[in-house]
Parts: sequence; C-alpha cells; structure tokens
Amino acid sequence: MQLSQRIRNITPSQTLAITAKSRELKAQGVDVISLSAGEPDFNTPEEIIEKTYKALNEGQTKYTSASGINELKEAIVRKMKDDNGLDYDASEIFVGSGAKHVLYNLFQATLDAGDEVLIPTPYWVSYTEQVKLAEGKPVIMHTDESTSFKMTPEIIEAHRTDKTRMLLLNSPSNPSGMVYTEEELKNLTEYLEKTDIVVVADEIYETLVYDRPHISIAAFSDKMKQNTIVINGVSKSHAMTGWRIGYACGDRDVMKAMTDLTSHSTSNPATPSQWAAVAAYEMDPSYLEEYNRTFNERRDRAYEKLMEIPYIDCIKPEGAFYLFPNFKECAQKCGFQDVDQFVTALLEEQYVAVVPGSGFGSPDNIRLSYSLSIEDMAEALDRIRKFVEQHT
Ligand code: PLP
Repeated sequence: MQLSQRIRNITPSQTLAITAKSRELKAQGVDVISLSAGEPDFNTPEEIIEKTYKALNEGQTKYTSASGINELKEAIVRKMKDDNGLDYDASEIFVGSGAKHVLYNLFQATLDAGDEVLIPTPYWVSYTEQVKLAEGKPVIMHTDESTSFKMTPEIIEAHRTDKTRMLLLNSPSNPSGMVYTEEELKNLTEYLEKTDIVVVADEIYETLVYDRPHISIAAFSDKMKQNTIVINGVSKSHAMTGWRIGYACGDRDVMKAMTDLTSHSTSNPATPSQWAAVAAYEMDPSYLEEYNRTFNERRDRAYEKLMEIPYIDCIKPEGAFYLFPNFKECAQKCGFQDVDQFVTALLEEQYVAVVPGSGFGSPDNIRLSYSLSIEDMAEALDRIRKFVEQHT
C-alpha cells in the first residue's frame, strides 16, 4: 500500500534500531553488552507502584481531561516552583503520554509549513523528525568539542532567518551529557530576549546532574519565561519510562491548542500512570539523591575506563547518563572508513552495542550509556579497548 510523503520523509529512530539488533543477538544466546540504553536500569520505586495499585482499586480507570488530572497539574505546579523557581498556573500545564508525545503535540500545534526550528548538534533523534512531521524545517547548527557541544549566541545568530520560530535547548543533553552553566544560560538569555524566538527547553534529564545544579532558562527573566516552553516528565527522573507521562509548561494558548489536538488523537495519558506521576512527586527527594550517587559513581568509572582506550577524546559529561567520545581518529587508525563502520564491526566482533553519533548529527562521535551495572560497563569498555588494540 502506498505510504504518505510525510512518513517517507522521516528517518526511523537509530537508537531503537541498535537496541533491536543487540536484542536479536542476545536472543540467539550471544553475550552482548549494550551501552545503548536510553533509560534508567532501575525499577520504578515500590512506593509509586503501591500508590498506583491503590488508585486503581479506588476506580481511577476512566477517561480524564485530555490535558491531565488537576491533582497532577497541581503537583507539577509545586515541583516547578520548588525545583525551578517558576510560577505557573495549572492552566499553563499540559500533561501528555511521555515527553516525546508532548514535543510532537507542541510542534503540531505551533508550526506552519516552512517555519524554521534551530536544532544544535548533537541532537536527540526525534527533534528533527517531529519538526518535519509538522511541516517545519529543522535548521541544524553544528556544535562540537570546541564549545563543549553547546551553542552560543554567535552560533544562533549565524543560523537565524526571518523564518526562525523556535530553538531547541536540551540541558542536560542526550547524547552529549553536557549541562549549560549559569553564565552560559545568562549569555543566551541576553541574546534571546532581543528576539521572538520561542525556546523549547527539554529538561527531561534535569535531576541527573553531578557537578552543578540544573537551572531552567525560563527562570532567568519574565520575558524568557513567556517565550519558553519547558518540557519535562517522570521517565528519567523516577525510572518511569514505560508509564508514559511527560508535560509542558508555558503559554496558556499553546497548552490549550495542544489539548485540543490531543482530544482528537490519544485523549488523556493513561489514567493510572497519571496517578503514578502524582505519587512520584509526593516521594521524599532522598530517593533521587541515592539514584544520583549511583549514576555519578558509574560516570566516573566509565570515564576512567574510556580514557584507557587509545586515540579517543572525550569531555567528561556532567549530566544524564551518557558519554559522547570522539572516535574519528581511533576509527581511522583501526582502518575503518568512518565511525559508523567501527560501530558495526564492534558489535559483530566484540558484541558491544553502542550508538553511532551519526544519528545525532555528530558522525565523529559515539554515544555510550552508563545505565547498566558497573561490572558490565567495565567489561564492555575492556572489550572496546581490546577491539582497538587488535585493529591497530
Ligand atoms: N527528550 C530527550 C532528550 C530524551 O532523551 C527523551 C527520551 O529518550 C525524551 C525527550 C522523551 O522522554 P519520554 O520517555 O518521556 O517520552
């Protein structure tokens, strides 16, 4: 059957493709270690599961308002105030089926054909495809190690046109693991305040920071808050990727438009999951501290092991659960044409699955996730080192 031009224009998610291939090998009994996970390897905390059972037994199994239950919106309002110093009204919150769905709705609700969206590399794979699905034009801004994979006002200015509508700011970043500093955000704010660019601040990894606190760009000024849509959710913060709850905070009319759109597509996010998210925000934050300590330890160990591999370069990440080393020279020394080829051979010969940076718009790099046990991670990095030694 013929497929739409719209769907033929998109590129399937590369991260999911690698995960699928390594699962296939595992199913054949091969001892694959995957450094490609995009989700925490912990289970959802018991307290959240118990409270969800209770909600189910109390009959929370029906439709809700398309944009989410008031109890969850109020919990998000409190969270935004306490954690980010931002005052929102419940009418400025939209709850959707995961941050991905929320971003999809946002682009559908705000972009017209040809509207440009500035996206810095390395970018999370769905931004470009979602913008294209909304008939917008992704404008890719290249960043690399020279600016710690961060955009600057100069980089934005060089790509801005009279069609620019939005800018993606993902901090902490998937895949680079970089976190914008207060100074960097201040510089961006000073520049952006002089424009009408809407900032889409994807803060889904907010709680996973190891060296400095996360700051939302929306908190820098009233104007910035007005021009920013903050995206967040419980997927990464509370190990709840399968529950599918994410949200947007910002302009009331935009939230209303997203609600109208949702009312004709998915309707409300699953009702029990919404109550689970309420339970997540009622939890003692010490849970997050414990969780962060584990990731911080893994990050340090992973970085140490990574640096034993010859011909690579890596900026130590400050957040999320990814390392984003540059393998260009290493791949060349090993006799591969490019980093993609290196990645394929690594999976075939040493059974280590990693995600090539090409899918994120940074073909010289590789994304390594440290969302797995320290032992498995150390073994995987030893295998990569062995692989490089054998090929050089
Ligand atoms: N934004 C970024 C940067 C992500 O890495 C992800 C998930 O991998 C999402 C958004 C989507 O999160 P959710 O699982 O809530 O849809």
